[in-house]
Amino acid sequence: MAKKITLLGSTGSIGTQSLDVIRAQGYEVFGLSAHSQTDKILQQIEEFHPKYVCMTSEAGAEKLSAALAGRADAPKLLTGPEGLKTLAAMDGPDVVLNSVVGIAGLGASLAAIESGHDLALANKESLVTGGHLVTQAVAKHGVKLLPVDSEHSAIFQCLQGNRREQLNKIILTASGGPFFGKTREELVCMTKSDALRHPNWKMGAKITVDCATLMNKGLEIIEAMRLYDLPLSKVTAVIHRQSVVHSLVEFVDGAVMAQLGVPDMRIPIGLAMTYPNRTHNPAPALDLLSCGPLTFDAIDETAFPVSYTHLTLPTT
Ligand code: NDP
Ligand code: MG
Repeated sequence: MAKKITLLGSTGSIGTQSLDVIRAQGYEVFGLSAHSQTDKILQQIEEFHPKYVCMTSEAGAEKLSAALAGRADAPKLLTGPEGLKTLAAMDGPDVVLNSVVGIAGLGASLAAIESGHDLALANKESLVTGGHLVTQAVAKHGVKLLPVDSEHSAIFQCLQGNRREQLNKIILTASGGPFFGKTREELVCMTKSDALRHPNWKMGAKITVDCATLMNKGLEIIEAMRLYDLPLSKVTAVIHRQSVVHSLVEFVDGAVMAQLGVPDMRIPIGLAMTYPNRTHNPAPALDLLSCGPLTFDAIDETAFPVSYTHLTLPTT
């Protein structure tokens, strides 16, 4: 039977790639949400016929309400941050995928978990800002937390069939972004448009800028600590320019497992939707003979101080 999905943040980069996977799988869409892009969500409503739609900004909600007025097939419209939580909590979907950007996603993550839904989580800010709340709620309600962030999906995959207590260290990979190799002095001259030119991934603006400063890796270290209940000393990061090795887990016996694939978010998105199954994915397969040499470098912590050791973090 086709899975039913509620997709929060459907107009964003992860949202539209999730709809690619949903389209390819023939899944049903139960609910969609956006903040302000009314025209884009209208197109999604035409194609996917959700039962519910939430528009979180006031202006977006007014515009969408006017556009849907009088239509017999219109989805029910929810509005604002409360509407987003209501949608996340609604009975109906098999999985709620949260691809909202920023702390605005936290309430919806908690609402989905507390209502007993498995949560496919792209919104890393849920874990960075409310990690303990999220993991405690997951344990209390016995639901699955399925990481969408490519590094955390890689770790999740490396841990399958292995014992969590035999994990020695998590090694996150970072592409290094557009400013790799630049000194702190050179970074002073960089502009927003320079920061938005990511070499490997096409993503929303916030995460792209965070990748350029390596702030994203700092956030992902916290995300991994929260997801796998590890101290900072057990989570590290290296530069891997090709974004083919998505992250690695070192075990106590010295064995290291990695997950590889083309840099295409539809692979971790697809797994989060279909887990524990794997199904065909619209992303291309990895061709080892054409992906070139795979390289690893240390992070330059002087040029990119937010990336790692200078983070002020709790130690657990
Ligand atoms: P985008 O900016 O492309 O999309 C964000 C989505 O959230 C849009 O649907 C947007 O609506 C909606 N949104 C914006 N503000 C609010 C708000 N205040 N309340 C509710 N919804 C809001 O972001 P990305 O898709 O790039 O990223 C989404 C999340 O996934 C982030 O947490 C990011 O860190 C994470 N992530 C992204 C990756 C990527 O490849 N893009 C990779 C790994 C993780 P509208 O379009 O109408 O403004
Ligand atoms: Mg990532």
